[in-house]
Amino acid sequence: MSWDVIVIGCGGFGSAALREFSQRGLKVLGLDQYSPPHNLGSSHGETRIIRKAYFEHPDYVPLLHRSWDLWQQLEVESGERLLQRCDLVLSGAPGSEVISGARLAAAEHGLRIRNLSAEEACREYSVLRLPEDHEVTVESTAGYLWVERCVGTMLRRACASGAEVRTGERVVALKCSPNSVEVQTTAGRYTASAAVVTCGPWTSQLLPEYQRLITVRRKTLFWYPLQSEGWAERWRSPIFLIDLPEGQFYGLPAVDGQRVKVGEHTGGDLVQDASTVERRVSAEDRAPVDAFAASCLRGLQSASCASAVCLYSMSPDGHFLFDRHPEYPVVTAAGFSGHGFKFTPVLGAAAADLIVQGRTQLPVQFLSQQRFD
Ligand SMILES: Cc1cc2nc3c(=O)[nH]c(=O)nc-3n(C[C@H](O)[C@H](O)[C@H](O)COP(=O)(O)OP(=O)(O)OC[C@H]3O[C@@H](n4cnc5c(N)ncnc54)[C@H](O)[C@@H]3O)c2cc1C
Repeated sequence: MSWDVIVIGCGGFGSAALREFSQRGLKVLGLDQYSPPHNLGSSHGETRIIRKAYFEHPDYVPLLHRSWDLWQQLEVESGERLLQRCDLVLSGAPGSEVISGARLAAAEHGLRIRNLSAEEACREYSVLRLPEDHEVTVESTAGYLWVERCVGTMLRRACASGAEVRTGERVVALKCSPNSVEVQTTAGRYTASAAVVTCGPWTSQLLPEYQRLITVRRKTLFWYPLQSEGWAERWRSPIFLIDLPEGQFYGLPAVDGQRVKVGEHTGGDLVQDASTVERRVSAEDRAPVDAFAASCLRGLQSASCASAVCLYSMSPDGHFLFDRHPEYPVVTAAGFSGHGFKFTPVLGAAAADLIVQGRTQLPVQFLSQQRFD
């Protein structure tokens, strides 16, 4: 049997690509070594932040506008609650690129943000305790996505539109020619007119040419119980990212009214093989996040009650690697560098454009890996 498109990896991005291809009427097959949504790659841990005043680069903003629309459409189409709006507080010392970057993106794209002093921000968000010299921006067009539910919903919507997903099947080789691809898995061989490779932290194992571009980092996440029920109302907002000399720390509100998730965006040990990464969390993992929570957050117990290990696939400059191959009908989406989930629906649409039409109107050119040639 031959397919129009085979999507290799059905996680965060693969699930979005599958949905997009199937809804465009293409015969699409998804292959995954595990059974997404799972907790072994990069798309687990309850929630993902979505925002607009993008401090990483203003060029992401048009994609974000579209992504917000697409997440909302998916909610309507599926009847699932996927996205919760709430405020986002960014905080950093004068000169912090988080603050200057968010202000630049907001100015270039006419986004509404509020600039506050640390004192004003702590008065408004009484769960935060920010360093006195920090500058703060607050964005109200922010929120969080229920990550596993999003992946599961996109896969179900894809299958409802005719996609086939085969799990527990690892792709071991991909052979490409100008008009077709051949995919060898642990269970069989498939051919298609095109492929999307989106293997997250396993990308370099299937495509060794990505070894020079992607480094995988082990990230830990911690959930802290509220000190008492009395804190639940105050912990309904905000999402926060605080840029400190010791690292950038972020967290989400108490989405279940009981626990607050906190993690460090910077740092993380290098991982050689995503399949054998240390999944146990050590005292060394805990120490910096515990210290951050104790000094910058209020109303939380000092000991976390749950943790998770998740993987970042870092590109050399922290921007995504998203391309159609110059000779073969293959799109690769990788190196999401710890901030890619919010973009998965819009990049799924761009991948489908690139496969079907050979080009896309969506402004994704700045993400081409040609910048490293
Ligand atoms: C702790 C943490 C916090 C984050 N916070 C945010 C955030 O707040 N906002 C945001 O937008 N982004 C965030 N991100 C980043 C975002 O979650 C990721 O960029 C995104 O989920 C990556 O999805 P992916 O499809 O690349 O990888 P994955 O979801 O890991 O999917 C890859 C899939 O490929 C499969 N696979 C791999 N190799 C093969 C093979 N050979 N054969 C078959 N299948 C294969 C795997 O089994 C897996 O299912 C965060 C990431 C982490 C780890």
